[in-house]
Amino acid sequence: MEKKKALEIFEKTGALLEGHFLLSSGLHSPQYFQCAKVLQHPKYTELFCKEIVKNFKGERIDCVISPAVGGLVVGQECARLLGCRAIFAERENGVMSLRRGFEIAHDERVLVVEDVVTTGGSVKEVVDLVKGVGAEVAGIGFIIDRSGGKRIFDDPSFSVFQMDVVTYKPDACPLCAEGVPVVKPGSRKAS
Ligand code: ZN
Repeated sequence: MEKKKALEIFEKTGALLEGHFLLSSGLHSPQYFQCAKVLQHPKYTELFCKEIVKNFKGERIDCVISPAVGGLVVGQECARLLGCRAIFAERENGVMSLRRGFEIAHDERVLVVEDVVTTGGSVKEVVDLVKGVGAEVAGIGFIIDRSGGKRIFDDPSFSVFQMDVVTYKPDACPLCAEGVPVVKPGSRKAS
């Protein structure tokens, strides 16, 4: 997908916010990307997931797995396109686990998918979960790569779109210096 087309979709859906944001890393940023704003439109979810599936063409994939909650719709759509089943992993006492009767067989090949990857922590835990039952990871696919071009996975991975993120340490943030209130994305209250 062309970068220009992806950016048009992000703008049209209001996914790309400008302001002064407190990221989960503790850093401040003048931008925030809310992927759910894009994925609330099934036609765009389909468009991005088609890119992921296309990249793993020719691979045998028996199952798609994603970490809840962000990866759920991506997993569901990729599995629909592949004609296989979609399951998800979620935290139980802090540990990424399979619940709800979900199972992976030891001889299955599994595609791990996510919406946005920054440090890749949750995805790595899901990869370990898959390998832990003896199954094979066919690959890792995600829509947005915010890692800054770092190679974070050992298994073959693919992202539809790389997004450069401007971040500041709170004590060196020009927006703080200007006195602009900092907002935690997802909440309406300024912190
Ligand atoms: Zn700031």
